[in-house]
Amino acid sequence: MRVVLIGPPGVGKGTQASQLKALLGVPHVSTGDFLREAVQAGTPLGRRVKGFVESGQLVPDDVMGELIAQRLSRPDARAGFVLDGFPRTLEQVGILDAVLARLGVVLDRVFVFTAPEAEIVRRLAGRRTCPHCGAVFHVDSRPPRSAGVCDACGSALVQRADDAEDVIRQRLKVYAEQTMPVIAAYGERGVVQEVDGSGEPQAVFARLQTGLAEA
Ligand code: AMP
Repeated sequence: MRVVLIGPPGVGKGTQASQLKALLGVPHVSTGDFLREAVQAGTPLGRRVKGFVESGQLVPDDVMGELIAQRLSRPDARAGFVLDGFPRTLEQVGILDAVLARLGVVLDRVFVFTAPEAEIVRRLAGRRTCPHCGAVFHVDSRPPRSAGVCDACGSALVQRADDAEDVIRQRLKVYAEQTMPVIAAYGERGVVQEVDGSGEPQAVFARLQTGLAEA
């Protein structure tokens, strides 16, 4: 199964992708996670993309294209993948088409998540993540047992640089301008399925499973 998840920042794509990965038994390919890890590790790629990632701008398409071609060519992605965060521009749709054609496979489904903007901003502004193990918390709806400390590994939680409120607004603007056309392009191919991303993650996942079973 080859699935793409699209939606505004904070709609819960990452959370849904990790559940879908377990259900389908295919890797979760998150371009955002990959880039953040590179930034944190200070690799040449990380140094190149840091400014874009931390200010909510898109990393240039040529960099992303190389990255996605390499990732999807790895053996673990042969049987399928859950792609989270790519493609985000029309140019990237073409890049993905070319990579999949070279691999001789097609996309099965594009799930588009939606949620009211106020809910998205609330979710992102309160999000805290563990830089060590990747666990995600929320100051109101999923607080850690001890404030500021990861339940899973005891590390100090951090706020992502791009979860500052002005950067959130910038990311939403980029989404509207650059990624909405991607949804229209896939819509014309008849592979898009909308999922209401509001409410609790389990409720959203139940809707996603219903959508999977339908098509
Ligand atoms: P995400 O975690 O998916 O919200 O991604 C965080 C940041 O990583 C984005 O705001 C971009 O700076 C960068 N990024 C992730 N995926 C892409 C992509 N497909 N194209 C360009 N930039 C990306």
